[in-house]
Amino acid sequence: MQTDLYKHKGMRRALVKQLRDKGIRDERVLAAIETVPRHFFFEKAFLEQAYQDKAFPIGEGQTISQPYTVAFQTELLRLQPTDKVLEIGTGSGYQCCVLLQLTPKVYTIEYNKPLYDKAVKFFRTYGLFPHTFHGDGSLGLPAHAPFDKIIVTAGAPGIPKTLVSQLNIGGILVIPVGGETSQKMLRITRTSENEFAQEVFTDFKFVPLLGKSGWDKPSF
Ligand code: SAM
Repeated sequence: MQTDLYKHKGMRRALVKQLRDKGIRDERVLAAIETVPRHFFFEKAFLEQAYQDKAFPIGEGQTISQPYTVAFQTELLRLQPTDKVLEIGTGSGYQCCVLLQLTPKVYTIEYNKPLYDKAVKFFRTYGLFPHTFHGDGSLGLPAHAPFDKIIVTAGAPGIPKTLVSQLNIGGILVIPVGGETSQKMLRITRTSENEFAQEVFTDFKFVPLLGKSGWDKPSF
């Protein structure tokens, strides 16, 4: 278990200032970033880098997303305290902890078993209780649908129909979609049973979303 020192809080305040300067406006999102100790997700040797606005390797060829990306995606979700949200790509668990600051009803699914096990251990250690799942999140979580919000933290080749079908009416899917090297951030809002509105935002670079509606078809 790591400790959260005064110097870390100062570094988080500086990070939040950077995010504000880069255009993040939702004060609840900024407060969540200021609250979650990002250095808890880093090996001891890299602690000093935890509050740089950069993605960072977490093993298994995966990354903890850049704080700006976490803030941007979370802002797009327009989370309400009663929302039930699904995160696809638990990774280190950092984004999940940011979501937990905004609503207690967080479901998160990770495809990579060693990362899944590590994240579950982390949540237990720090007394956090998201609903955790191991498997192909590109298919969503049909047994637990519908969701008010879905956030995908890996780059998809297209918008998985299975995901939009798991949104409540009025629900929002935030997903990076594009090629393997660059993706546009999309916000899909389910406006009625069969209608969806799509907004396109700027480019990001994510690791690929794997799975049946992702870049390959792994067998579990
Ligand atoms: N949200 C994470 C965090 O805060 O650390 C960062 C996620 S990392 C950029 C993307 C994650 O998506 C990786 O951990 C990867 O293993 C996972 N992933 C890729 N395809 C997936 C799938 N089909 N289902 C669930 N997780 C998947």
